[in-house]
Amino acid sequence: MGGTLTPPPGFLPRSKPNPPLRGHRGADAAIIGGGLTGSAAAHFLAREGIRVILLEAHILAGGASGLGTGLIVTGLGEHFAATSHRWGTPVARDIWRWNRENHRQVARLARDIPCGYRATGGYRLARDPAEMEALRESAPLQRRLGFPLRLLEPDEVEHLGAWGFHGGAHCPTDGQVDTPALVLGLARRAEENGALLFEGSPVVRIQRHPGGFLLSTPRGRVEAPRVLVATNGFWPPLRLRVNVRPFRSQVLATALLRRPRLPAPGFSGGGSEYWRLWRGRLLLGGLGGAPAASEATPSRRVTRRVQRGLEEFRRTHVPHLRAGTTHRWAGTLGVTTDGLPLIGPAGRGLWVAGAYSGHGLGYTPLAARAVARRMLGERARVPPVFDPGRRPLGRYL
Ligand SMILES: Cc1cc2nc3c(=O)[nH]c(=O)nc-3n(C[C@H](O)[C@H](O)[C@H](O)COP(=O)(O)OP(=O)(O)OC[C@H]3O[C@@H](n4cnc5c(N)ncnc54)[C@H](O)[C@@H]3O)c2cc1C
Repeated sequence: MGGTLTPPPGFLPRSKPNPPLRGHRGADAAIIGGGLTGSAAAHFLAREGIRVILLEAHILAGGASGLGTGLIVTGLGEHFAATSHRWGTPVARDIWRWNRENHRQVARLARDIPCGYRATGGYRLARDPAEMEALRESAPLQRRLGFPLRLLEPDEVEHLGAWGFHGGAHCPTDGQVDTPALVLGLARRAEENGALLFEGSPVVRIQRHPGGFLLSTPRGRVEAPRVLVATNGFWPPLRLRVNVRPFRSQVLATALLRRPRLPAPGFSGGGSEYWRLWRGRLLLGGLGGAPAASEATPSRRVTRRVQRGLEEFRRTHVPHLRAGTTHRWAGTLGVTTDGLPLIGPAGRGLWVAGAYSGHGLGYTPLAARAVARRMLGERARVPPVFDPGRRPLGRYL
């Protein structure tokens, strides 16, 4: 199994590192975590003139956001009809609406931040007849509610250059973005508006304090009346009824393709495989046919089984995209008990946004903006099913 065990060069466009926090500082709002959620929240708060301090344990975009493939998907992998049957149509509508609005938010930010954003639309390709049936059932239901989805027969899918599928669907409201570039762009915007972003500054303790909270890092402390936990949902002191578990997602990148023919990003098997082009390479991620249980791990090691499965998927379904694999990597998703995100209050003065269960670009930066507004005492509607205080709605994985 060849290939470098990192994303390709340029995937994480780092410039100069930020220093760690030293000494004691005060802020109007503190953010723990410098991924897409934390950087976006720092941007939204700082542009309102709020004194923001962001504390990142390692490097900005060093977590899932620096490894993610950046498909902006409207809706969940299981398709609209299944979500509708499981939780009711109003809940499904809330999720799809949030995803669509989040895409608009990415597009607005991308006007000022070079981050490879494109409104490509996207494909869901059916790996078996049952998935095609779910798409057939979903299309009219979701179209009626204003979420377009155009069904594709197997020969239309072949015409796109994808083989061996039982049909599929095209969603015009999907897109793609280079997530690490978006994170770093947001971080710079926040700094231009006065936010202080510290790297190498893990928060090791959070205490209640007369002024709100006292956050301790190995070399410094921050006092702030409001805190946002933006750690991908991993933060044991939150003590929520919804659990957040680590889930590994593996990706491979090919060498530059001679004739990159893939009209838009897509996924199949309810999200168990996903793909897009990035600067002339194919990025292909997912399970590669392995059982989901094998990836319920905090390990970021790539495995032979999943990587071989992904290679096999490429050979079977997009055989014309022929090029050797040059890079392989894995990252950790925060997955909740019910597969829905945590967006909202988690105690007096304490907020959380994260655990997007593999679907971060469906939920944030809108999640960061909504929480930032609520931290400032403004109104921002967040569907009750995203409330961090909810009882889990069911079991996801
Ligand atoms: C391989 C892979 C592919 C993906 N592809 C897609 C995709 O195509 N589409 C999509 O929608 N989603 C995708 N995702 C998911 C998406 O990337 C994530 O949902 C999103 O980036 C999460 O952002 P975040 O800011 O909430 O978390 P993260 O980016 O994980 O950031 C959390 C940060 O918190 C920091 N931190 C943790 N603890 C502390 C502490 N105690 N003190 C200070 N800092 C701390 C971490 O170091 C980290 O930098 C993918 C993820 C992976 C791993």
